[in-house]
Amino acid sequence: MDLSDIQKAVGLKSPIRHQLFIDGEFVDAISGETLATLNPHDNSVIAQVAMAGHADVDLAVKAAHKAFPAWSRMQAADRGRILLKLADLIEANGEELARLESLDTGHPIRDCRMLDVPRTAGCFRYFGGMADKFQGETIPVDAGFLNYTLREPLGVVGQVVPWNFPLMFTSWKMAPALAAGNTIVLKPAEITPLTTLKIAELMREAGMPAGVVNIVPGLGQVAGQYIAEHPDIAKIAFTGSTATGKRIVQASAGNLKKVQLELGGKGANIVFEDANLIAAVNGAAWAIFHNQGQACIAGSRLVLHENIADAFLEKFIALANSIRLGNPLDPETEMGPLTSAMHRDRVLSYVEVAKAEGGEVLAGGVSPGGDLANGCYVKPTIVRVKNYKDRVAQEEVFGPFVTVLTFKTDAEALDIANGTEYGLGSGLWTTNLQRAHLFAREIRSGMVWVNSYKRVNPGSPFGGTGQSGYGREMGFDAMREYTQVKSVWVNIDAQIKPHYPR
Ligand code: NAD
Repeated sequence: MDLSDIQKAVGLKSPIRHQLFIDGEFVDAISGETLATLNPHDNSVIAQVAMAGHADVDLAVKAAHKAFPAWSRMQAADRGRILLKLADLIEANGEELARLESLDTGHPIRDCRMLDVPRTAGCFRYFGGMADKFQGETIPVDAGFLNYTLREPLGVVGQVVPWNFPLMFTSWKMAPALAAGNTIVLKPAEITPLTTLKIAELMREAGMPAGVVNIVPGLGQVAGQYIAEHPDIAKIAFTGSTATGKRIVQASAGNLKKVQLELGGKGANIVFEDANLIAAVNGAAWAIFHNQGQACIAGSRLVLHENIADAFLEKFIALANSIRLGNPLDPETEMGPLTSAMHRDRVLSYVEVAKAEGGEVLAGGVSPGGDLANGCYVKPTIVRVKNYKDRVAQEEVFGPFVTVLTFKTDAEALDIANGTEYGLGSGLWTTNLQRAHLFAREIRSGMVWVNSYKRVNPGSPFGGTGQSGYGREMGFDAMREYTQVKSVWVNIDAQIKPHYPR
């Protein structure tokens, strides 16, 4: 099938964008090179997407520099207005974006409609409103002096987005950076560039001046690495693996770029004896199986009080086995394929790791076969592990794969929760108020959910600690990350004595 046949088959009204977006135009890569993006449902080719090399990134950086003075000096409310318009356009094109995201990533269409698209529009809307509300301070300093701070944009920022939530993460990266007055060179993941390119098209329609946003799909080790190294980029914001995050820190050292990292996780989800069991079972399934477990905040370590473990697992296993796997474009599908065949194989390799460590597979652990045999599917997988220090309970699997551990005392639960190098998201299920707040304080992670899991909102800071990275997306914290503070001192007292009176 060629591109227009695929467009028709998926019910898309507009052509699938497959070129770089530089200085307000869709263009081929200078080298003419392309990279296929695949449909993970059957591994068929959707589109050949232009692949940026160093020369293309240079052009994008140049365009972003050219656009920076006007964009950063534009009245903040006017910048905001463009982001608000974009949010409206995302909603107006919501079905188109949902289908495209589902096709390229394997997210079930119902999730794309219900979550990815509204959250993307919501993020641009929140920061559109924020643009003229983020302000400096007046500081009470020495008598006779006025001291105030200016919050200034950084300049051209580089942004590298992963493949697990390409549409939503594009908004998390772009919206605060733009509201603060920066210009952008953004690289989507090589395997999921399509919705980011559609956003570029909508940006243009929203009136975004040329060069403010530049999109350069390409390989991580080539275009991504070059963005991290680039001497004319002031900051790099990255979401992805911890290993790549470390490479980015090293690459950024040349011009001492500001770095923001949102990396891996191994979220503990603790269920206490006094929890509402039904709510906890449902919440724990959502925590790990939503988006096929491909989420940095996934609740991938289920930590159960031993007195309720059997009752919990009986219901949890039944729920996992009942999740409907299928073509992500089918509205009935609850779980789609993983986003690539390579990733499916990586996830399945952890089943062997678990078995070698004495783990017991309670559900899944295999691909479904049958109609789904050509796709990147893995059944919801539950593994009881022997020790929280086992590899399988420590390393990020990033799939529909949850490890189960049990505990006797609260102290033991806390040791397990804090017993990883990561610290991104964690959850706890209890009806004891005191315990809830105590654990919320003691758990080492950037986010804690109580009797809930995986809630996000553009106003609430998102990010981690330890090997999960540093910096925060969303909310006022994100605006701080995309600005630098200038402190201005003004002598307002003519009587102040000079140091060297002459
Ligand atoms: P990755 O970190 O290599 O890729 C994420 C993004 O980084 C992509 O856009 C990629 O092109 C880019 N990239 C790769 N190498 C780069 C480099 N040297 N410089 C700059 N950018 C570079 O992740 P992956 O290999 O696709 O997935 C491996 C594992 O990473 C997953 O199994 C999962 O554990 C983790 N991961 C985490 C997240 C998250 O949300 N925290 C997202 C994706 C992957």
